[in-house]
Amino acid sequence: MAQQRDVFLPAAMVSFDAGIPALCSRHGDPAARGRRVQFISRPPGWSYILLLAGALPFLVVGMALRKTLVAQRWPYCASCDNRIRRTRLAALALILAAVATIVATIALGGQHPLLGGMGVLLFVLLFLASLFVLISSDPTRVARGVVTRDGYALRLREPAPGFVAALPSAPPFAGPPAPRLPRT
Ligand SMILES: [Zn+2]
Repeated sequence: MAQQRDVFLPAAMVSFDAGIPALCSRHGDPAARGRRVQFISRPPGWSYILLLAGALPFLVVGMALRKTLVAQRWPYCASCDNRIRRTRLAALALILAAVATIVATIALGGQHPLLGGMGVLLFVLLFLASLFVLISSDPTRVARGVVTRDGYALRLREPAPGFVAALPSAPPFAGPPAPRLPRT
């Protein structure tokens, strides 16, 4: 299979829903649903150094430099839409299981130290699993879209050829009129 190139969509095209095909960007299938999605940029590579100083400085700098783009109706095919809903439900079930585990551990752990230790371990595992599933249910991940660091474009990783073919060949925005050159 030929390697599909990444595609960059101008920010205005995404936020004004101008010229975005009604096709799933991942599969090229007809969109079953449009979702309001907030795409974000990745933290710059150097900011990971801040993790040495702790999670908080990293998060603060990441938030300050983060560029966002909100799409009012980003197209998802039925399969992608189901995937988002299923993974969200799975994440919710895991969080509830984690809460039930910690409640049971507090109730029983005092009498049985081994049971308490196992309960805490199970809680941590369930909690981490729920975070992992929650991240994978993120609609921006399903669409494989990331905002560029300057905030001017949405980068789609390996979009479906059908989606790319349906994109307008020219930006659908009329720019400001070209300045008239003074006559000499
Ligand atoms: Zn899809």
